[in-house]
Amino acid sequence: MNILVPIEVRSGEVKKPSLEALGLARSLAEGAGGEAIALVLTPGAEAIVESIATAGAHRILHCGADVYSRTASEALGREYARIAGERGIGLVLLAATVAGKERAAVTAGALGVAAANDATAVRLDGGSVLIERPVYAGKAVETLRTIGPVAVASIRPNYGPRADGSPAAEVEAIEPGLTDGDLRLTVESFEASAGKAVDLTEAEIIVSGGRGLGSPENFALLESLAARLGAVVGASRAVVDAGWRPHSDQVGQTGKTVSPKLYIAVGISGAIQHLAGMSSSRNIVAINKDPNAPIFQIATYGIVGDLFEVVPRLEEELAAIL
Ligand SMILES: Cc1cc2nc3c(=O)[nH]c(=O)nc-3n(C[C@H](O)[C@H](O)[C@H](O)COP(=O)(O)OP(=O)(O)OC[C@H]3O[C@@H](n4cnc5c(N)ncnc54)[C@H](O)[C@@H]3O)c2cc1C
Repeated sequence: MNILVPIEVRSGEVKKPSLEALGLARSLAEGAGGEAIALVLTPGAEAIVESIATAGAHRILHCGADVYSRTASEALGREYARIAGERGIGLVLLAATVAGKERAAVTAGALGVAAANDATAVRLDGGSVLIERPVYAGKAVETLRTIGPVAVASIRPNYGPRADGSPAAEVEAIEPGLTDGDLRLTVESFEASAGKAVDLTEAEIIVSGGRGLGSPENFALLESLAARLGAVVGASRAVVDAGWRPHSDQVGQTGKTVSPKLYIAVGISGAIQHLAGMSSSRNIVAINKDPNAPIFQIATYGIVGDLFEVVPRLEEELAAIL
């Protein structure tokens, strides 16, 4: 089966979750006698192609036409569908970022199939694709089977294996399938808000704080631990509602869904609405003084203790080994 991986580019940089999708596509395609095909549609495509040449693609299709500087997900999804049709693609696999999920939906709509977003595992089973994903706020995992000649799915950040150091891909320039007259929506400008260098949804390590921190000033403890680990700081809704942290830091049902390799929950009780946003983290460390806090039910490792003693000790120990 041939697998198409549209590469997401923002401000001239490849989004890391796209490389994870590409790594996964390589391992799936190799098991099924097919190719992992990366698709780069953006001005400056050639530099992007160079940067991902050995990241897992057997083949890279690229086009740097100026029209792609104005295309929103709506037009890009139609392009992905067109190329999937032309190239006999069995699976279009995107990264489950905000843009990736939107583009998956448009691509699936244009192909007349359903999109399966937010996968934590993707397997091939004969001609169909099996997609596992958490549902009901992480309380269950559902497995979907796609029916039909082509499937569209997105894989959560930090769930695809990178394939850096793969043999160099074949590179093929393609023509754009769109002109300005085909656009129904154009992107006029894009300004990143000042804030974190890495978005919470893509972070590999998150140190999250809750009401147990007691005050906004005490988040300095977490900032320091996060700096030591190369992590990003997140928060529960209680502290966001209290104005201690911005809403962009909020993890949970009404905040962000995250899937880091390591999630450290500090002074967070583990309400179901918080778990909804972080239960698919690969490893969860909970620090809480209440041994009955619900967060311990999903934690990989739990530390029962006062965070004001535990966090500095943890940082001290990390300083000795990192
Ligand atoms: C519709 C709806 C949507 C919601 N969406 C979200 C959401 O997106 N995200 C979210 O997080 N919440 C959400 N909530 C709120 C959620 O129900 C909880 O109220 C919230 O998650 C609690 O935040 P918390 O764990 O920081 O605070 P608390 O529940 O007050 O927990 C604080 C914890 O800190 C511990 N603690 C206190 N002092 C220390 C110390 N010194 N050392 C160690 N531990 C200590 C306590 O034992 C306690 O477990 C939502 C609620 C509703 C109704």
